Amino acid sequence: MKIHPLGIGRTKVPFGQFYGGLAGADFDEFVTDKDHFIWVPIHAYLLEHPVCGPILVDTGISPEQTEHVEYYRGSIMEHVMDVDEYDLPADQTLTAQLARFGHTPQDISAVIVTHFHEDHVGGLNLLGHAPVHLGADEYAARGEKAFGLVPLAFPPSIESITDWRPIEFTGPALGGFDGSADLFGDGSVIALPTPGHSPGSTSVLVDHRFLLTGDAMYTVRHLAVDDVRAIQIGREDHYVDSIRRIQWLRRAIPDLLVVPAHDDTEYGVRLTAGLATGELSDQDARWAKDWERDTFDEAVRLNPARRPRFIPDPDGGPVGAVS
Ligand SMILES: [Zn+2]
Repeated sequence: MKIHPLGIGRTKVPFGQFYGGLAGADFDEFVTDKDHFIWVPIHAYLLEHPVCGPILVDTGISPEQTEHVEYYRGSIMEHVMDVDEYDLPADQTLTAQLARFGHTPQDISAVIVTHFHEDHVGGLNLLGHAPVHLGADEYAARGEKAFGLVPLAFPPSIESITDWRPIEFTGPALGGFDGSADLFGDGSVIALPTPGHSPGSTSVLVDHRFLLTGDAMYTVRHLAVDDVRAIQIGREDHYVDSIRRIQWLRRAIPDLLVVPAHDDTEYGVRLTAGLATGELSDQDARWAKDWERDTFDEAVRLNPARRPRFIPDPDGGPVGAVS
């Protein structure tokens, strides 16, 4: 099955939100630190299923959301998030990205959302005709306030959807996971429970090869959960447990490649570029595994040389980069 990463703009986040979880960064810092921002990409994924047709995993952001004050007026989002947190060029909207592959939003036969955060559900307003699969615990938590950085399921982002398909993980154990869900009955798209970042965060295993983690892991470096951790507002124990289960899955499936939604590392950039045709070349796959070997030891501890560091903007601005 072909898998196409869709780059749907980018989001400006505090460095500590992504990488500061073990360094004492907390929610207060997330809200108040205006000096250590980084830009990270926002990805959704188009799966060309041979029987079911085009399937989306996540939907990115919508142009409406970039009008921050207007869109989020009256919500906690208006105050907690920065007005310029999203950047969405016209050629990167969900509609524009689908058009590159000859599709309109109406062609999408099913949607899987990894979780209910705003940078993953913004395109649902174009997909009201489609069934939307998501973890049952995520569906049950919709409407909770301020859990997992932003309100789950800001109403205008999801109100067009009528066919919700909460996922129960009653299928066989897989790797470190006690249960799974074979979403389309052919084993090609398997949902796995990876809670922590949000109550029902779900990862999606495509062709037993690519694990789309949503934000269960922000980047591939977060696999080394004892060395790199995001800020946790929700259940840190669940977050850590989910990543350990992903580590186990990776041992069970040696060819597995982990594909987070916001990976700003050279690994994420090259995998995204390599999948432009929908299939990864053997050369790119070998490169990815070499990169992993250079980055993690057998116990999935991080090579100290690959530890993320904030690199300030040379001109003194608030947005830097990551080493
Ligand atoms: Zn996200």
